[in-house]
Formats: sequence, C-alpha cells, structure tokens
Amino acid sequence: MSIQENLKVIQSRIPEHVTLVAVSKTKPAEDLQEAYDAGIRDFGENKIQEMCDKYEVLPKDIRWHMIGHVQTNKVKYMAPFVYLIHGVDSLKLLKEINKQAEKNNRVIDVLLQQFIADEETKFGLDEEEIRQIMTEEIQSLPNIRVVGLMGMATFTDNENQVRNEFKTLKSNFDLLKKNHSDVSILSMGMSGDYEMAIEEGSTMVRIGSSIFGNRNYPI
Ligand SMILES: *Cc1c(COP(=O)(O)O)cnc(C)c1O
Repeated sequence: MSIQENLKVIQSRIPEHVTLVAVSKTKPAEDLQEAYDAGIRDFGENKIQEMCDKYEVLPKDIRWHMIGHVQTNKVKYMAPFVYLIHGVDSLKLLKEINKQAEKNNRVIDVLLQQFIADEETKFGLDEEEIRQIMTEEIQSLPNIRVVGLMGMATFTDNENQVRNEFKTLKSNFDLLKKNHSDVSILSMGMSGDYEMAIEEGSTMVRIGSSIFGNRNYPI
C-alpha cells in the first residue's frame, strides 16, 4: 500500500481529539512530502541532524517533533524551529533547552518522558522526579513549557502488561493536569499499540512503520 493509503486507514482509526505524529526517521524527504501532500503536518524524527536536514528542504508549516533521546550538545541546532520535544528525561536537558530557547527568543514546548516499561534500555523519569520538576525546577526555566507526558511501553506480546503501563502513565498525567493548566498532551502509542493507547487515554500517537513501511535499521 502507498503512504497515502496507509494514512487513510490509520486516520480512520484515530478519533479527532488525538494528534497523529508521522514518524519519518530514516525515510527520505520524498516520503515526507507524500505524507504532507496527504495533509500531514506533524512529523517525528529521532535524530537532530536528520531533522534539521529535512527541515531545510521541506515546507515551513511542518510541525517538527523530536521524539528521540536528545543529546544536550545538539539542542542548539533544533532550538530555532522544533515544535515539541517529547523525550525530556533530565534536569540537565531541561536547562539546556531553556538556555537555547532563550537565545532564540522563544518558549519551547516539551513533554517529560516517564519510565513505564520494565526494560533497562528505555529512558525516562519516575513519578517523583516529574513531580519535583513540575513543582520546583520549572520555576527557574521560563523559556520552557511542559505541556504533557510521553511514554513507551515494554516491547512485548503481553497486551495486559502494555495496557497496565499505559494506565500508569495516564493516571500520572491526570494528576499533573489537575495541578498544571499547561498540561494537555499525553504522547503514547506507536504502530503496534496505538489503538490500545487511545483506549487508555492517549492524545498523541507516534506512528512510523504503519505509514512509511519498515525501516532498514531498527531504531
Ligand atoms: C520509532 C519510534 C516510534 C514509531 O515506531 P513505529 O513502531 O514505527 O510506529 C514512536 N516513538 C518513538 C519514540 C520512536 O523512536
């Protein structure tokens, strides 16, 4: 199926209040243009350099989402244009984003990544660290707006486990939302689990391979 056909199928399964981020990492600019022509404006990349290269050649009304693990020393390259940084998992990174946002005279929206999987390999903060950032550290970061949470479930066939991980994230999201008016985005769900994520309260899904086909390397 073509990118356009894949998008039709996926969009028919996503309710209106959920934002679809088309995860285009490793894919050539022509593929993104095809999705753009089909109406997509939100694109997700996981490497800053690759996102900057694509930003240069593609339409300027694209909203660029950084969904990968961010290296502090590269924040400056995306600071002028990035729309939302999903995977923020340390105070050090928040401080650097704040600094670069200030240099660019803007406020950058971020999601805090909460660790919900049982795998050692996934990055993220725990609930206490998130609470502390939201109630204390954020006061001294005026050029950052925390607009929600992001999480990745364990890579497993055990649907119950994935569902429970989504529930954990949703309950912390609800708690934060009650106390912080900027919080409105819950980024959870990928190609393999987005329907379940939506059932569990996701407001933003990050879908790559179901739109663009399998990637040549598994990042
Ligand atoms: C690659 C990636 C996705 C998309 O994965 P698919 O399984 O191809 O839909 C979503 N979120 C993050 C953080 C990713 O790195």
